Amino acid sequence: MRKNIVAGNWKMNTTLQEGVALAKDVNAALEGVQPKCDVIICVPFTHLASVNAVIDANKLGLGAENCADHASGAYTGEISAAMVASTGAKYVILGHSERRQYYGETSETLKEKVALAFENGLTPIFCIGEVLEERENGTFFDVVKEQIESALFHLSAEDFGRIILAYEPVWAIGTGKTATDDQAQEMHAFIRGVIADKYGKEVADNTSILYGGSCKPTNAAALFAKPDVDGGLIGGAALKADSFMGIVTAF
Ligand code: PEP
Repeated sequence: MRKNIVAGNWKMNTTLQEGVALAKDVNAALEGVQPKCDVIICVPFTHLASVNAVIDANKLGLGAENCADHASGAYTGEISAAMVASTGAKYVILGHSERRQYYGETSETLKEKVALAFENGLTPIFCIGEVLEERENGTFFDVVKEQIESALFHLSAEDFGRIILAYEPVWAIGTGKTATDDQAQEMHAFIRGVIADKYGKEVADNTSILYGGSCKPTNAAALFAKPDVDGGLIGGAALKADSFMGIVTAF
């Protein structure tokens, strides 16, 4: 079901103690507030169980930033979807551009991760987005369409309906350079059209599509006002409770 969502992506930031303190701050800031969106924090694996213990799951969702593409076994250092789910987390970011870029994630590995997330009751927050060169050479619609088709279009309509999409133009992530609200809307409407062509208008209308890339309290309201932008995936601004809350309350 389509929802407004603001999800934080802490990336490789905060020690366990700092992370628990930040989660407590966000949780406390949500007390007495009725946000017009679901609020999620996606935190490092090492923090999941401890953060789960200090947040109110009715107000604040918890997710991981990745999971393995195998169910279990001899994969030293990997963390499975079952392990993530066993901490109490309900979400997992998959296909973040940093994982595609630095850890060679492909649509093939992402297909496995999506399947394992579903098997373990996790909702994927699935990231797509073009790099600067693709924005500048005009291939960005094709690139994003291909990312969705190759990793997700083997799914049934029912399973596709369980995915949250995050459009994150790579040139806007951590750069301070936000896509304009019109650029975001243009891409989000395009993505919804791609989904409608494959699964029909109802599935497309029910898909939450978040924007990510230097989203801040100062630009969130304009982005979220666009009809096809259903919220944000927030990196840097999720690392302080007040800036994260400034985005949560932008709806
Ligand atoms: C992200 O990494 O998902 C992200 C959107 O980062 P930032 O908000 O820092 O650009």
